Amino acid sequence: MTGLLYHLVSLGCAKNRVDSENIMGLLGEAGFTYTPDPAAAEVIVVNPCSFIGPARRESVAEILRLAQYKRGKCRVLLVAGCLPARHKGELFREIPAVDALVSPANLDRVPWLVRRCLAGARATALRPRETPAARLPRLATGPPHSAYVKIADGCNHTCSFCIIPRLRGPYKSRPLEEILGEAESLVAAGARELNLVAQDTTFYGLDLYGKKMLPKLLRRLATLQDLAWVRILYGHPDHVDGELLQVIREEEKVCPYLDLPLQHCAGDILRRMGRGAGDLGALLALCRQRVPGIVLRSTFIVGFPGERRRHYRELLKFLEAESLDRVGVFPYSREEGTPAAAYPGQVRDRVKKHRLQEAMALLQQISLAGNQKLVGETLMVLVERREAGGSYAGRYYGQAPEVDGSVFFTSKAGLNPGDLVRVRVTEALNYDLKGEVLP
Ligand code: SF4
Repeated sequence: MTGLLYHLVSLGCAKNRVDSENIMGLLGEAGFTYTPDPAAAEVIVVNPCSFIGPARRESVAEILRLAQYKRGKCRVLLVAGCLPARHKGELFREIPAVDALVSPANLDRVPWLVRRCLAGARATALRPRETPAARLPRLATGPPHSAYVKIADGCNHTCSFCIIPRLRGPYKSRPLEEILGEAESLVAAGARELNLVAQDTTFYGLDLYGKKMLPKLLRRLATLQDLAWVRILYGHPDHVDGELLQVIREEEKVCPYLDLPLQHCAGDILRRMGRGAGDLGALLALCRQRVPGIVLRSTFIVGFPGERRRHYRELLKFLEAESLDRVGVFPYSREEGTPAAAYPGQVRDRVKKHRLQEAMALLQQISLAGNQKLVGETLMVLVERREAGGSYAGRYYGQAPEVDGSVFFTSKAGLNPGDLVRVRVTEALNYDLKGEVLP
């Protein structure tokens, strides 16, 4: 059985990507070999996203596309992740080419599932697990100089629009030493930047150690010699406190960057969303006061049930007043099985679309104004790639991979991905910067 070729397709966010890399590590250890060509693979794994409707539709289309290969060499089509956890039997019934289903908590069982299917069975591993599987092997697929590290899975919050806690179960922190071990391996393999991910990174440790341990984890990661930056993604406003901000300010390797999805600002809407309705403006002010120069990223939902024009105008005012550095806005997606799906006051799609477009136009202006303030500044930039024409693309500490913009710059010297260079900013674009490298 060993030596069989497998192909894998990963969709969705960085958290899902880490799961896919774990599946690849497990299959590699079990003797399977990756091929980028689905037509050559005997085993095809798809790890799709089920977070909201559009992602789910894209996922189903991708499974159907891959199912075509069952007419050729492919003997096993395995679907992993949130989608099987959510739709279980339906996937088997409606896509007969699917042979195996595995939920995020059971990824360590992927090689076993594949073997069972190769022997002719249809199999699933979907049971909830109280404790996460021990550290899983991982085959990194991103550029070696930048890696995601998943510090926990699941979520203890009860946001009324979100299906994730039902799919991934309660919050499960990975042991601190295990995360450090993985970080050390990634740095030894060339990672200069680590990006911490979880459903809520700021909750880290509360379940396992009885207290928030993100500050301690950051201090330990900051001792890794060849690491340049560690960045916190997916925090939660309820768990940002003085201790965390102090670590961000004091530790040079911890990026002064915080990704804090706020979802809305109007108290009525936040309560209906099941999120703390604390003073978000005061929290952002505290972040800025304790960590001068901090870059703040957030996401917001428009068109949540009950969002009236006055709530939406309040949101626009908040966005304008706070001028957050990076903002994503999404239209509310009515997800079956979530409390908000049954709320009265559902907003019409046309209205959601209009609010989304209007908010995005405002945010583009805010982003441009923020970038203009950087013109003339010198930034340390992590080189990402060489562009056509001989220029380079990189990111400074205020730009997270994939979701934020880039710094495009020229350099007479040849540079490699992972190099850190000083770049003087010469021009601001809506989301990107242009500059030139300094000697
Ligand atoms: S914090 Fe809220 S939105 Fe995020 S995963 Fe948990 S329940 Fe979902």
